[in-house]
Amino acid sequence: MPERRKIALVGIGKIARDQHVPALAASPDWELAATVSRSGTVEGIECHTDFASMLAARPDIGTVSLCMPPVPRHPYAEAALRAGRHVMLEKPPGATLAEVYALTALAAERGLTLFATWHSRMAQAVGAAKAWLADKRVIRAHITWREDVRKWHPGQDWVFAPGGMGVFDPGVNALSILTEVLPGPVHLTAATLSFPANRQTPIAADLTFTGGVTAEFDWRQEGLQTWDIDVQTDAGRLALRMGGNRLEVDGVAVAGNTAIMGEYPALYARMAGLVTTGLSDIDLAPMVHVADAMTLGRRIEVAAFEF
Ligand code: NAP
Repeated sequence: MPERRKIALVGIGKIARDQHVPALAASPDWELAATVSRSGTVEGIECHTDFASMLAARPDIGTVSLCMPPVPRHPYAEAALRAGRHVMLEKPPGATLAEVYALTALAAERGLTLFATWHSRMAQAVGAAKAWLADKRVIRAHITWREDVRKWHPGQDWVFAPGGMGVFDPGVNALSILTEVLPGPVHLTAATLSFPANRQTPIAADLTFTGGVTAEFDWRQEGLQTWDIDVQTDAGRLALRMGGNRLEVDGVAVAGNTAIMGEYPALYARMAGLVTTGLSDIDLAPMVHVADAMTLGRRIEVAAFEF
């Protein structure tokens, strides 16, 4: 077996523990060689609390994976690229589009890999949905993304702080699937954003795009969680359920597997391929829709929110 590449994981919080650490532990491509976190650690792995010190101490670690929220992430990404390391970014890839453009240019200038990951694009049925839609004409499509913020982001006040994106933090996952599977591009024409009276980012959003595409995102859904995309075409009806993990055509399940959630292993396999071939993968289309919704959105004030 070829030697695994060394990688450092930065920001040991919910998603690092839930997904990145298990995916790396099982990866044939990567060896988790160090962590950087002000408070989090991973058992048995060398840990640092300061990023610059880790970069200086471990020149043998060629890649870093950044798992902190978007607002504090950019200085870490820039420092890593300036130190000659390949960089993998959690979604959304930044707090603003411009900072990701700057990283893209820096990575290209230095000949390094930058991977702006969209984990939902790796869901089990997304590829099959894209293939099925490739030769169809979309008449209309609707995204229903309703989940419970207290379950998925317990106590994470950053999601409601400026740059935290509010309900677009999960909503951008739906948009990452939409922009992957639709046979042509659409753009946003209207949005209604519901802001809790005491918060800086929306807790719900209704979006209208060209091409008959609409979306409803809501973070106040208790009980059953819904991550569906329904598409009516000139040749039948497609539904992606369970966050892109099950594909139905005209009501019949045809692809996917909701028992195996392989999104993060697939992201790390892709990162290994990108580093090997010297390529980057940065698609900002999902984030453009979020920025446009914030630009065009009509604001509604709703009940104050506390975790
Ligand atoms: P989190 O647990 O609140 O934060 C992750 C880690 O980031 C923290 O443990 C913290 O580590 C570090 N961090 C937080 N603020 C920081 C700051 N100002 N400076 C430096 N480090 C800071 O968040 P998360 O849920 O893991 O989400 C992180 C990213 O993953 C987000 O972009 C999110 O969209 C994405 N994501 C989350 C989920 C999910 O289910 N939660 C799913 C998929 C993707 P230290 O304090 O120890 O340094």
